[in-house]
Amino acid sequence: MVLGVEMALKILALGGDGIGPEVVHSGLQVLEAVAATVSLKLDISEDVLHGAAFDAYGVFVRKETLHQAHHSDALLVGAVGGPKWDHIVVEGGPEEQDGLMKLRHELEVFASLRWARAYDPLLSRTPFRPEVVRNSDVMVVRELCGGAMFSPTRGIDNAGESRRAYDLNEYTEAEIVRFARIGFEVARRRTGKLLSVDKANVFMAGKLWREVVQEIGESEFPDVALTHFFADNAAYQLSCNPGDFDVILADNLFGDILSDQSAAVSGSLGMLPSACLSELPQSGRSERPAIYEPVHGSAPDIAGAGIANPIGTILSVAMLLEYSAGESVGARKISTAVEAVLQAGFTTPDLGGKHTSQQMTDEVIRQVRRI
Ligand code: NAD
Repeated sequence: MVLGVEMALKILALGGDGIGPEVVHSGLQVLEAVAATVSLKLDISEDVLHGAAFDAYGVFVRKETLHQAHHSDALLVGAVGGPKWDHIVVEGGPEEQDGLMKLRHELEVFASLRWARAYDPLLSRTPFRPEVVRNSDVMVVRELCGGAMFSPTRGIDNAGESRRAYDLNEYTEAEIVRFARIGFEVARRRTGKLLSVDKANVFMAGKLWREVVQEIGESEFPDVALTHFFADNAAYQLSCNPGDFDVILADNLFGDILSDQSAAVSGSLGMLPSACLSELPQSGRSERPAIYEPVHGSAPDIAGAGIANPIGTILSVAMLLEYSAGESVGARKISTAVEAVLQAGFTTPDLGGKHTSQQMTDEVIRQVRRI
């Protein structure tokens, strides 16, 4: 699909559950404000996902939503899940149990770029000494469509004396290759350093992972400095010296854990954006739909209170502009505006402040228009 310059960027917004709709509302307001400043045309439609879809239609994601997703340039998703739906089991594999996992699976967005950085005004909100965390900037590249979390070989049975539960952690060479290439490319565009994480000492999947990542590095990305850590050591080092990390390449499970852990450098899980991609476009608009979502979940404990931190979603909009629209000027406007807002002392309660989601959003928009 080659888009003309006049063509509107087609966005499908799916708030999901809990605080999801609240933060997506903030993200869309910022997107519209930025689009106006860079003359980007938008074609935005909205739909329900997961719990909200289940309540309305009895399915976690509707066929119409999947169709719309395939015909969009980008999806902006809030978060899904909550106690009301977490126990529901529907027929089919793991992707059928979760509307967002179904979308990731359908669109084959197998690489999730999860970005955590330290912000000077928030250093005291982190568990680190300022000199340890200052300037930390970590990009966890998480495999998103494979491994134990997507395994069809799973279950709980009564095979022996006690019940047995299992989720097969399997990766094919092809899955590792396509994913590693994106990780290396991300590293090349940053500081040229890539840390691959695995448990090659105990898991066969880890052995293949390490072997394949090493081969891709040597044959296709000799300019990128590749190192390997065992996942437990990576978690330990990340909690001691976050500033030493740059791009972390990890499978679905380790990436899930390490990206939440990396949020500590930003002061709150609510600060982290992500881009879920099936390609890393060189420049210009992406050919394939991608999903942009904050790293956090639906936070049922604060849903409806108007105090969710919208920054993770707002920065996800910046990533959307960068990777799906080829609009790096707009993307930079957002990240600069977020820094200015934090510098001015605006923070939601998760960061120790008193501002509401809407106040934060309004201030980001004010800064975007000023920049
Ligand atoms: P969570 O991320 O929803 O919340 C963890 C903690 O962080 C909570 O105290 C919450 O209040 C806080 N928090 C999260 N985002 C915040 C924000 N933007 N602003 C302020 N505080 C924020 O994780 P959880 O409690 O483990 O899971 C709750 C539900 O979300 C579960 O149903 C889970 O399955 C689901 N979940 C969804 C996703 C997703 O949609 N991508 C990811 C993780 C969890």
